[in-house]
Amino acid sequence: MTTRLLRGRTLSFVSRPQARDDHASYIYEEDGALLIEDGKISAAGAYADIKRSASEGTEIIDHRPLLLMAGFIDPHIHFPQMQVTASYAANLLDWLNTYTFVEEQRFADADHCSRFAQLFFDELLRQGTTTAAAYCSVHKSSADAYFAEATRRNLLMIGGKVMMDRNAPEPLTDTAQSGYDDTKAVIESWHGKGRNHVAITPRFAITSTAAQLDAAGTLAREYPDLLIQTHLSENDAEIAYTLELYPDAKDYTDVYARHGLLSDKALLGHAIHLSDREMAVIAEAGAVAVHCPTSNLFLGSGLFDLKRIKQHGVRTAIATDIGGGSSYSLLRTLDEAYKIQQLRGHRLPPLENFWQATRGNAEALGLVERIGTLEAGSDADIIALDSSATPAMQIRRETISTLEEELFLLQTLGDDRTVRQVYVAGEAV
Ligand SMILES: [Zn+2]
Repeated sequence: MTTRLLRGRTLSFVSRPQARDDHASYIYEEDGALLIEDGKISAAGAYADIKRSASEGTEIIDHRPLLLMAGFIDPHIHFPQMQVTASYAANLLDWLNTYTFVEEQRFADADHCSRFAQLFFDELLRQGTTTAAAYCSVHKSSADAYFAEATRRNLLMIGGKVMMDRNAPEPLTDTAQSGYDDTKAVIESWHGKGRNHVAITPRFAITSTAAQLDAAGTLAREYPDLLIQTHLSENDAEIAYTLELYPDAKDYTDVYARHGLLSDKALLGHAIHLSDREMAVIAEAGAVAVHCPTSNLFLGSGLFDLKRIKQHGVRTAIATDIGGGSSYSLLRTLDEAYKIQQLRGHRLPPLENFWQATRGNAEALGLVERIGTLEAGSDADIIALDSSATPAMQIRRETISTLEEELFLLQTLGDDRTVRQVYVAGEAV
């Protein structure tokens, strides 16, 4: 059994911060320590206390003055879109048809999938993201490659074979039956193996027939502990087309509800243009609105209405949405989320932002017992952040005196250079 002690400034959230200086929402130790045994955090607290309880000969790694936090979580990202990012498109549907549906066809090739699985996890870890919920491509081989690589690296990853049986190029479509069968095969092969979680993944209403959404709903009933991931109300033209395809639905949200896909397991990517009725039924179901700020700005989709979402009691998450998103970094993502709320006349405190990227996203995924905090018993997925990582940050850092100010500096000027060390299940990567 490997035992090691990480020393540093430790920060872990206990609840959603309610104000800029909500000190009850987190635990911070200026000279803190995490004891790691067998891939898990076995004790957390002040260094002096943890050191006393550690057995003789425990390896001590001193990360001071870095900030130790739970690894970032990205609950909406597309594994086959690394080469779609930074594509010049007018809007969502243009971007999908011109770039994305072309690129994703390359994932029919197993070697291509394997190569990109390695590149994908290399990049996530470089950015301090230790868990992600990813859409694979329509090909079963893409999900197999994704989970094989996640298993090899002992990562806690969520992923799903995309289901799409219309309104896409023929090589990129399955059928209601084959989408069901292939998803089931991916679940049987990978769910619960290593640290893997499989998600039921109908891309969105436009690319699924009613028969396919029914099949996805059947899977959700057969595997009630699985997450469901899809897209909802991202763009005006998308919403209009969806309602043309599903004329009986009350609204976009109702399309998923009537196929058994709206539950506390549902991760609804974007959720920008929602009526009060939709917000109420999403809150009632306990589904999660996943905000993807860099993507929403990049594609010109709209400004996420965090204030109304919270007023309705809808659960939230924050994600990159690569390749519609423009950065793999959760720090860059928090910065853009802050700016979107500025444009909406709503304040988003840095404490709440960092809660969302760690504990908040873990809660959204139903995994807070395992990831998202530094609490004893959690998996030891940990990052060490340097708020003086660049010359500009170093200069600004000189005038900072509070934790909230430091977090705001990290989200405003930080990026991959800020992430100095990453541990996955207690092992440095
Ligand atoms: Zn997406």
